[in-house]
Order: sequence, then C-alpha cells, then structure tokens
Amino acid sequence: MKETLLINGAWRAASSGRTLPVINPAYGTVITETAEAGAEDVDAAVQAAAAAFPQWAAASGRERAALMHRAMDIFRSKYLDEAARLLTQENGKPLNDSLKECRYTADVIDFYADESRRITGTHFAGDMGATHSFILKQPVGVVAAILPWNFPVDLLAWKIGPGLAAGCTFVVKPSEEAPLAVLKLAQAFLDAGLPDGVLNVVTGAKTTGASLVQHPTVRKIAFTGSGATGQWIGEQAARQMKRVTLELGGSAPLIVCTDANLEAAVQQAARRCFSHTGQICISVNRIFVQQPVLEAFTERFVELTRKLRVTPDGLREPDADMGPMINAAGVAKVEQHVEDARQRGAQVLVGGSRPAGAEYSPDGFFYSPTVLVEVQPDMRVMVEETFGPVAPIAGFDRLEEAVRLANATPYGLAAYLYTSDVNAAFYAARQLQFGGVGVNVNDITDIRGAFGGMKQSGIGRELGEPGLDCYLETKHVRFAYQNPG
Ligand code: NAD
Repeated sequence: MKETLLINGAWRAASSGRTLPVINPAYGTVITETAEAGAEDVDAAVQAAAAAFPQWAAASGRERAALMHRAMDIFRSKYLDEAARLLTQENGKPLNDSLKECRYTADVIDFYADESRRITGTHFAGDMGATHSFILKQPVGVVAAILPWNFPVDLLAWKIGPGLAAGCTFVVKPSEEAPLAVLKLAQAFLDAGLPDGVLNVVTGAKTTGASLVQHPTVRKIAFTGSGATGQWIGEQAARQMKRVTLELGGSAPLIVCTDANLEAAVQQAARRCFSHTGQICISVNRIFVQQPVLEAFTERFVELTRKLRVTPDGLREPDADMGPMINAAGVAKVEQHVEDARQRGAQVLVGGSRPAGAEYSPDGFFYSPTVLVEVQPDMRVMVEETFGPVAPIAGFDRLEEAVRLANATPYGLAAYLYTSDVNAAFYAARQLQFGGVGVNVNDITDIRGAFGGMKQSGIGRELGEPGLDCYLETKHVRFAYQNPG
C-alpha cells in the first residue's frame, strides 16, 4: 500500500520512500502505510496537472460529462462498497454512514457532470460606440484540493465535481488520517479513462499540503479543515493571489421555540449532535430551548441519548448510531471542554466519560454521548468548536435573546431553528449570522444549495451554482466593429 501517489495516470511511492501510518481509531492499530509525498513529488503532480490542463479545458462539456458519469458508474459498481469499508476503518463511522457518504459522493459528481454542459457566458451590445462585449467563463487552472478526515470522499466530490466540470485539473491532498477511501474514488476515474494528469493525488500530511499550497503553478486552493490551517492557507494564497475556497470549523446553535413540534425537534437535535460522534462541521454544538419547554425537551433528549448505540466496531454494527472519535487529541479536547464546564457549574446528565465495557478496545478513541445543563455562555464548550459528542442545553425567554446568544460566536457555518411560527422563522433566519440556516430541519446540505461559512467559518461556497462558479474565471472580451456605410 505504499504506492499511493497518483501522478500523471500512474500510482507510485514517494521518491524519498517515506511513509505514514493510517490508524483505525476503533483499535488504535495501524491499518496500512501510505506514501508521504515530498516537495519533488508535489511538483511532479502539479506539473502533470498543468500539462493536462489545456486539453481538459478545451474538451467540450459533453465530453467531460461523459467521462465523469462513466467514472461514477464504475465507482458505484466496482469500488463503492470497498471505499465505504475503508472509510469506516480509517475514520470510525458506522458502515451505513460510510455507505451513505459514498453514494452521495457519486450523486454530487453526476450532478456536476450534467452542469458541465450548461456552462455558458453572456454577451451585450456596448454602450460607447460600435462595440460588442462577450463575458466568457473559463476554467481557473490547476486546483489544489486539501481534505479533512471526517467526510473525505464526499468533500472531495464537492471540489472535483464542479472543478472537473469547469475544465480545471487537480492535485488532491487527502487527510493523513483518512486517505484510503479517496484512493478508490481516484481509481474509478482512472478506470474510466480520464486523461493522464487531470486528477492527481498526493498522500501526506502538513508538509505535503504546505508544498502544494505554496506551489506557484497552483491557481486555486479548495480547502476544508480547521480554522487554524485555513487561516495559514489564506495568508499563503494571498501572496500569490490564488483563488481560495475555505470551508472551516463551526459552532452550530439549535434553537427550539415553545411552539415547535417538540418530538421532531428533540429527535433531530439528538441526531445532529451525535451523528459521526459529533465530528461534523455542522454538528449541533449549542442547544437553546425556550423556558416553557426546556424541562420536557431536556428529559426527552436525555432519554434518546441514553439509547444511542456506540459501536466498538462500525464494520460489525453497520447501523449503530456512532463509533469512536478520530484520535487521542480529539478525545482529549472533549475531556477538557467537559471538565471546564463541570468546574464552572455545569451538570453532566449523561456520559461525561469513555463508554464502559470490555467490548471497547482499550486503545480505541471512544467517548460517550454527553449531555450538559446549567451551562454558561463563556464556557469553552459554548465558545470553541468541541468537535465531539457533547450537547450543552441552555434556556432562553425571548427569541431575540436566543438569536443574540446563537450569534455570540466567531463561527458562522450552520444554525437550526424549530418553530411553527412563520414570522419567528423569517425573523430568525434573517438575523442569524450563519451561511446556512435550517428551519425545522437538521441539515443544511442540498446539492443545489450553497454550503459555506460566514465569519471565521470560511470564504466562498460549495455546492449549487456558487460551487461551480468559483472554478471559473470571468473574462470580458470587447469587440469594436465598423458599421458598413
Ligand atoms: P486540519 O486543518 O487539521 O487538516 C485538514 C487538511 O489540511 C489535512 O489534509 C491536513 O493534512 C492539511 N494540512 C494541515 N496543515 C496544513 C498546512 N499547513 N498546509 C496545507 N495543508 C495542511 O483539519 P481536520 O482535523 O482534518 O478537519 C477537522 C476540521 O475541519 C474541523 O474544524 C471541521 O469543522 C472542519 N470541517 C469543515 C467543513 C466545512 O465544510 N466547513 C467540513 C468538514 C470539516
């Protein structure tokens, strides 16, 4: 498994021979080793992408669409199950969640394959003399796609789907924690006959990613990951005026009003707090419930949380609610946030520790779903991104107050509101400073929507039309002509 660099249509090892282990977080054991790309490997991948660019950019939308669809047919029939199993092994989510991610990946790429045929520009008669202007949409060039470990395959599709459709070529840097399923997706494109160099993959960690970011031939960086890394990438990109899409962390509030369908709100809140062990950028991090229903909400939420199944192995229990966290640092952060809350007066109603039982490997990175009450706005769990299975619940009196508390965060990715009052819904949806607002729904993702953050949660949008437009340059071509006679 050391030949994990896909450069110019061929798999190979790092020229230095260096490797990195991939760990199964359920057991803390090494699954396999991947190549760690050095600067020379990154350069070779970028050169391959640059050489492939003119031909791929010049291909018709019809040709690009056909190749992308063929790749997804192959992915579904030949690699999807294997990719999902690898995903569960490398990042811990139960197998059904991995299957869902891989199926959605193929949907996104199919969606953008069709969009490839709809890229057009516009034109208009000039208003100063005899001129006519054309607005052309042209691919940006070589793109670096840098991925996190939590939805590695899906979030790659959000980048190469629109980017390949636009005519860009790619160098992909998967997360060192979860690179394996991504390699299967890349293989499907190879099998489909994608021209050499259009899609390259360099496995590695921070230094590999940094070489890619700083490479002068890369014209755009599409990054999903932590705020700290995103900020560094933004600074580097600014030096060479590279385009960036930065999808960063979040601290999503969920507001429940007295007039909400309480059972729906509780069930959806529990799912969005604990699914993928709380390690989703749009996971609910803070729950605000209007006082008259606070007690009933909390009781039912606790009841549902107690029933959640944390599987010791997501391959053995595909339909479990959650698995392990990604690594020891992730668990340590959750422990610190819960301890900080406890010390400052919060009460732990459920969880607050590792799950008990010999079925859990002592070397696995497990943490129980945890419910906190009597939380204060300045506790770490209310301010920082915990990125773990912790649900802090607080009360509020008036909706204006809930909106103010919800906005009191540097993040602005996703927010959720449960109410049956359409006026309250419109008011809050407009006031909440988040890139996505779910009203009576716990997911803000739709292929045709726009997904992305305000404030520290990032720059740019993925999915929908904005997700395609950011892989296109807008060029103005102005013609002067003479009217005969
Ligand atoms: P991370 O920032 O640690 O790593 C992300 C990627 O960046 C990895 O591939 C890593 O190797 C690479 N990297 C690290 N340092 C780099 C550098 N200096 N230059 C270039 N590349 C570098 O993030 P993570 O822990 O993998 O992901 C979790 C974070 O991602 C959370 O904060 C989460 O909220 C966020 N996230 C955001 C979204 C979104 O759409 N907004 C979606 C999923 C995850």
